[in-house]
Amino acid sequence: MERRAYRRAVPRHPRTRMLAASCAMLALAAATPALSASDHDLASGVVLLDGATFPVVATLGDGWIATTPCRTEIFLDRGDFLDRVDVLLDPGHGGPETGSVGANGIVERDLNLGVAHLAKLALEDLGYTVALTRSRDLHMGIRQRAAIANALQPRAFVSIHHNGGAVRRSSDPGTEAFHQVDDDASRRLAGLLYEEVHAALSAWDVAWVDTVHQGASARIRSSGLDVYGILRLTPDLNSAIVEAAYLSNPAEADLLADVEVLQAEADAIARALHRFLGSDDPGTGFKRAFVDEAVTGTGTGWNCDDSGYGSTLSYAVGYTETEYADLSAMAARAGHTPESLQQFGVYALDFFHALQDRVELDPLPPEAIPAVDGSGLDASVTGRWLPQDQVVLMRVADAYGLSPAEAQKVGAVLMVFLVGISG
Ligand SMILES: [Zn+2]
Repeated sequence: MERRAYRRAVPRHPRTRMLAASCAMLALAAATPALSASDHDLASGVVLLDGATFPVVATLGDGWIATTPCRTEIFLDRGDFLDRVDVLLDPGHGGPETGSVGANGIVERDLNLGVAHLAKLALEDLGYTVALTRSRDLHMGIRQRAAIANALQPRAFVSIHHNGGAVRRSSDPGTEAFHQVDDDASRRLAGLLYEEVHAALSAWDVAWVDTVHQGASARIRSSGLDVYGILRLTPDLNSAIVEAAYLSNPAEADLLADVEVLQAEADAIARALHRFLGSDDPGTGFKRAFVDEAVTGTGTGWNCDDSGYGSTLSYAVGYTETEYADLSAMAARAGHTPESLQQFGVYALDFFHALQDRVELDPLPPEAIPAVDGSGLDASVTGRWLPQDQVVLMRVADAYGLSPAEAQKVGAVLMVFLVGISG
């Protein structure tokens, strides 16, 4: 966060009272419509951190507001920003959503991840930039995977899966690829994925299984919409799903335990993408769209736990003896601690900020920004902010042109004023 060179070290209690009064007036006034002076950057892109991919909602100060795999907005102050890639690969499932499970103990969520990592390396060797929706085992719903894709706008988006359920004997792999209904580019991508993966796995002679959906097709509701959220929620992208083989078939599960097979599958996915991006090859295996009203029940992100994302941040705020006495008194009157009153104040400021289309809010002038450290300050209150609450603090700080500590003090002064006039 940029620090202001202009800072006072003298107690400025009367002035902060005036500031509180003007903040309160904002709430009371039915102001005229005003142009928004400080729209957030409408950022697209993602932040990569600790194996997770966070779509960015806004860039603020020295960090980002971004959504976790559980779709909670948090503030991130570290990570690698990425705004565009050629290819986004989505290893299907994760966490408690295991996907199919092989008789030999192989779990689809892990298998998908392994193949995705290998395909990423193969594509990077071909000169493409590649990202993964997740690069470790984590729980994430379909909507978030689509949000990552929409934030990155890749030239191609492929969700990697291994199937379950088929029992019909087949002389060749039961590879399936799914595309967006009525979308020629997505259809071509699925046809190339089917063609390459099916051909690569055909090098092995095992007791394959398949269904009538072997090939490339669209799976739709009777409404005509794509069944798969990955495809339905990325209408502006070239998206496809590949189900390479049947993990539920013991013979294929044993095959998928061989890293040579996984490498061949990953290379096939990379080749399909290379041909999609660099040629007009049409692909093969096309079948008519089929209507399926069944609910898969996976990919909801239900009970997603995002307590591990982001980090708790603390900011200390200095008060003069008089300011602290006022804060303590008003906190006691409201039945709260000084810490929580300070935090409530930030939420109150956020409420005013949310009125931005009705009330004109500009960054505070330097002389209205309270001192939060330095001499003349006798007491300190530390605000402790969870990742999801940091979104509010950073939004307020940005809107009013304050540091996080200054935003806390402005909030506290506002609360002292509001509790004072209400009591
Ligand atoms: Zn799957």
